[in-house]
Amino acid sequence: MINIAIDGPSGAGKSTIARKIAQKLNITYLDTGAMYRAVALYAVEKGADLAKSEEVAPLLDEIKITFVDNGSDKVICLNGRDVSKEIRRHEMSKCASDVSKLPQVRNFLVEMQRKIASENDVVLDGRDITSHVLPDAKYKFYLTATPEERARRRCAELKEKGQDVDYDKVLKDINDRDYNDTHREFAPLVKTSDSYEIDSTSIGEEEVVELILSRIKEIDAKSAEIPVKKVEKANAPAPKKKSWFIRFIAKLVKRAMRVIWITKIYFKDNFIKNSKAVVICNHYSGLDPCIIMSKLLGKNGKVVMKDEIAQNKFVANVSEELGCIPVKRGEADINAVKKILLALNKNQQVLIFPEGTRNRTQDFKTMLTFKNGVATFALKAKAPIVPLMYYKKTKFYSRNRLIVGEPFWLDQFYGQRPGDVKEEATDFIYSKMMDLRREVDLLVEKFKGSKKRYLKYKRLQSKELHENANHRSKE
Ligand code: C5P
Repeated sequence: MINIAIDGPSGAGKSTIARKIAQKLNITYLDTGAMYRAVALYAVEKGADLAKSEEVAPLLDEIKITFVDNGSDKVICLNGRDVSKEIRRHEMSKCASDVSKLPQVRNFLVEMQRKIASENDVVLDGRDITSHVLPDAKYKFYLTATPEERARRRCAELKEKGQDVDYDKVLKDINDRDYNDTHREFAPLVKTSDSYEIDSTSIGEEEVVELILSRIKEIDAKSAEIPVKKVEKANAPAPKKKSWFIRFIAKLVKRAMRVIWITKIYFKDNFIKNSKAVVICNHYSGLDPCIIMSKLLGKNGKVVMKDEIAQNKFVANVSEELGCIPVKRGEADINAVKKILLALNKNQQVLIFPEGTRNRTQDFKTMLTFKNGVATFALKAKAPIVPLMYYKKTKFYSRNRLIVGEPFWLDQFYGQRPGDVKEEATDFIYSKMMDLRREVDLLVEKFKGSKKRYLKYKRLQSKELHENANHRSKE
């Protein structure tokens, strides 16, 4: 499939350019901003507070976004209703920017965008296409222009539509949106190092289109020079299908696992189900992977385990059927590395314990030193990391507690060799896990496991932070 990814700040002309490229190449154009606007419109209509994920997330199940051909163009429909005009109202820009901060909204739309891109030749424009939605796209562009020029263009556009506008207000809105888009925690707008940057401040649309088309040709010419190693793949023996007995036992084990362990999982919505992810967790007991496998991982999820577990052939077969990837410890296990990367590239989730072994210290508040594997895989596959944290050592028949943190990316390291940055990236991952440790302690100890009281406290805390920042900037 041809996937052309274009990112950039608001008002850089992405949608006009993307539409033109799609026309010239006779492929689909997907306006991802319109999708965020449609979600925002629905949430506004339902009276939801756009900053509250607990109010917006439940609405996602009620939303169906489609693009319908109206003869000359494709219009966006929200539950069958053409909303292409409503979503363009000036205030909807801010609303879209607000809902776009919510991880649940992003996961919901990103999943749709990836599906469309996997089935169609498409040009997508947005904020996170090159870094997050399609990090492996062959053609990646970053389109920008100075805020002043973008504000000038926006004013001209609105004036043409007969709207009265104030340049300073438009410029402020643009700067605010830039700030929101580049500072949000989840999949912010970044220029990835493999994106081709075009600054359109002083060049016209046609010139930008030409630049993009010639860059695409250049990339095609380069890839034609590289012989593709397909023969090896074609000659590889087809994987043997497991016997019905092994499959039956594996199914039984999975079902049993689901009922045996009583586990309260907080913020399950943060879990990424249908796309690649490196899932990480603290590790105290042999039950840890089983709980995650049975209660969180999708049916294609994988778990990296030490290979001693699978010494017995029967156990090895059953565990493979359950999604285990055995890894030889203390050596570079190329086979396991290949399997992990293959699973991620097939959009599966892979659970890896970053400490590399069980923590037997009885100290639940800290973790052992992390191995570099997680960082290396997440960097190579450009996959998000989903952090999980058990509150305490997991046990049979007692109420285990597990918190799912917000997914994060290592995109600040993209474009550098994983080998050069893996240590720094590992430190970053460790700090994220420690943040999650504090959250689960707070939730369980201070708020006795009450998600409601915990969320109320978090909201008050962020309001206070916001007010303090405002206060300081006024001084
Ligand atoms: O591109 P457009 O201005 O229509 O996008 C509306 C808003 O949706 C943006 O300000 C941005 O916050 C959000 N958005 C996003 N990721 C995308 C596309 C849009 O966060 N891929």
